[in-house]
Amino acid sequence: MSELWGMNRDPETRLDSEECVRLWDDPTTLRIAVTSRGSLLALQFHDDCGQSESLRLAPLSADEGREYPHMFIGRSDDGSAIMAAVYPDDELPGSTDTAEKSAEDSRRRPIGLREFGHLLSAQDCQSAWIGVALAAWHNREPFCSRCGHATELAQAGWVRTCPGCSALHFPRTDPAVITALRDGRDRIILAHNASWPEGRYSTIAGFVEAGESLQQAVVREVKEETNLDVVRMEFMDSQPWPFPRCLMVAMRSWVDEDDPHPLPDGKEITDILVLSRDEFEDKVLSGGMLLPAPVSVSWNLIHDWYGRDLSLLVSKVS
Ligand SMILES: [Zn+2]
Repeated sequence: MSELWGMNRDPETRLDSEECVRLWDDPTTLRIAVTSRGSLLALQFHDDCGQSESLRLAPLSADEGREYPHMFIGRSDDGSAIMAAVYPDDELPGSTDTAEKSAEDSRRRPIGLREFGHLLSAQDCQSAWIGVALAAWHNREPFCSRCGHATELAQAGWVRTCPGCSALHFPRTDPAVITALRDGRDRIILAHNASWPEGRYSTIAGFVEAGESLQQAVVREVKEETNLDVVRMEFMDSQPWPFPRCLMVAMRSWVDEDDPHPLPDGKEITDILVLSRDEFEDKVLSGGMLLPAPVSVSWNLIHDWYGRDLSLLVSKVS
């Protein structure tokens, strides 16, 4: 899988409903289980110390999940199909309850993509992003936005059709910006959201409003949340965040001050820190700062600014 191009989504196969039915029973197909809230079934592997070392998407048998909607995700590097069954929330099966439980079976358990996605391979993670994004879309939009009629799943999960007015509906994403804001001395500005646990800090983020560009959204969000003025920004990365349907656009941004005085809005943001790299390290090592999940682009933004091994730094906190 190319990092730039992502996995082969093979959109032609979505159009062939008979082939998608056949592929579910094909022994080479990887069948995975997802829910609309971002859970999935994974196999967990531990290192010698009992720490969770890595995760792989757990394959369902052809008989499992047969009663739930099936979606065609794409193709793995060897060309085999990847399909997903959308389970109801909180009903992922976990390990089977048979006496002759296989070693693989005992490794199987439900996980949250948000919490544990960083332990998956790039291909597994992308399959999970796609599966969860489609599942969340189907769950939230069962009715036609034009005429209100109940819609029906089509094209292996990539379209919903309306029998009432013949409209076709496609998966939606809401763009949001997220930015690692830096001052004139290359210190990072991190904010604490009122709804977060004490000690959790992250980069500034917010939804793009109607009629607004990405750049304008960055300037507006930073002004609203910190009362600081962004003078420059550049694109860094983007990431699907299907909880339920965001596309996060990550920017580096700067204020034109060596000693800025951010002012939290007091509603959404209740505290703001301006930290040098050494101060950031001290804060993390003292246990006084909880960082975003490693699978998130906000982690990547902080890692990008930090320039040292952020995973290693966090691993020293215990
Ligand atoms: Zn309709």
